[in-house]
Amino acid sequence: MTSPETASLPPAPTLRDRDRAHVWHPYGPMPGRTDPLVVRSARGVRLTLDDGRELVDGMSSWWAAVHGYRHPALDAAVTRATGAMSHVMFGGLTHDPAVTLAERLVALTPEPLEHVFLADSGSVSIEVALKMCLQYQRARDRPGRTRMMTWRGGYHGDTFGAMSVCDPEGGMHAAWSGFLPQQVFADRPPSSYDASYDEHLRAVADAHADEVAGIVVEPVVQGAGGMRFHDPRHLRALRAIADAHDLVLVFDEIATGFGRTGTLFAAEQAGVAPDVLCVGKALTGGYLTMAAALCTPAVATAISGGEAGGLMHGPTFMANPLAATVAGASIDELLRRDWAGEVAALGAGLREGLAPARDVPGVVDVRVLGGIGVVQLDHPVDVPAAQAAAEAHGVWLRPFRDLVYAMPPYVTPADDVLRIGAAMVAAARAA
Ligand SMILES: *Cc1c(COP(=O)(O)O)cnc(C)c1O
Repeated sequence: MTSPETASLPPAPTLRDRDRAHVWHPYGPMPGRTDPLVVRSARGVRLTLDDGRELVDGMSSWWAAVHGYRHPALDAAVTRATGAMSHVMFGGLTHDPAVTLAERLVALTPEPLEHVFLADSGSVSIEVALKMCLQYQRARDRPGRTRMMTWRGGYHGDTFGAMSVCDPEGGMHAAWSGFLPQQVFADRPPSSYDASYDEHLRAVADAHADEVAGIVVEPVVQGAGGMRFHDPRHLRALRAIADAHDLVLVFDEIATGFGRTGTLFAAEQAGVAPDVLCVGKALTGGYLTMAAALCTPAVATAISGGEAGGLMHGPTFMANPLAATVAGASIDELLRRDWAGEVAALGAGLREGLAPARDVPGVVDVRVLGGIGVVQLDHPVDVPAAQAAAEAHGVWLRPFRDLVYAMPPYVTPADDVLRIGAAMVAAARAA
């Protein structure tokens, strides 16, 4: 029964009201344009909402939660780690979780990569990679080499250095013109191999060799810049160009690392190794924020002998032991399972589920690589309509630009993969 006192009080604000009042969401205005869904819990491949609905997660929480949620081995790792220490600074101190993780990353990644900088997010690892390029050239007595070369269509993060190498049209450059460093851009890589594109890359590098410190690209898959795939052979051309001009070659595998494209690292498909490799996202299985920039002894030796006397970066939460422990557990879990079989099955399921999308009006391309499924439209997606259609199928998707895509957890059961495919087709139709 309502008492006279409570009857006169306004209703308590809901979580959504409180969110609207105070909390920024990614790339959003204040208050938000649309109300976010409220997640009460997450387990396996499902998100449980405050209204009791369950949605299959087609996004792996921005491509990170490859083992799904509340994974027993990863939960246990977090508990074990908190029993030993919370966070300790990494200046002058070290610990087993960081050293063991660094050793594992060195063992898993291409041969020449031996030294590991543990950063606290993907964007920060890109900033570190850019500093490695600049400090390398300075140490080699080429202080004029202060720009980066990349190709259009990329995405490398939201900090300023990272944004400067994102696609200049899709990547928010206009919003920061006058502030962003001006980088050297080649054309977007073609979707299938084209020898004349290698020539183009060579020409761009030749024209700017004296001012370029390094080359940074996402190998095989350009993610948030447009979910595009290219032939790995173009990476070989970049390797040859970098060698010819003594440029530092950086591969950003923050999205592609740990199996998403069907090989543990996408660079393996080209058979070339970069001088610097960035990993993040799936590194901790989506549990905690951590990324890493690995480099070769040649890069490390040059930087260490340079004027600055070391690599000029050191975040407060560098090498966080909780994140490092859960990263180790995530790698164990990945290697213990048949991850390659899982990713192949995911791809096969997406291919089957997305086949009907080709007949949807406005669809210009349907593509699948590894555990990535993409439906591209000839117009920007009506995101709320597309998401509502996916939710009606019991699936969480977050389309952007002209794309409805999925990157589900590797552990997604076959029937849920088909459900994601059906939801994407419905989303494309509603978009
Ligand atoms: C997500 C992403 C980043 C940025 O990582 P954050 O952890 O969001 O800072 C950089 N590069 C690529 C390829 C990414 O997909």
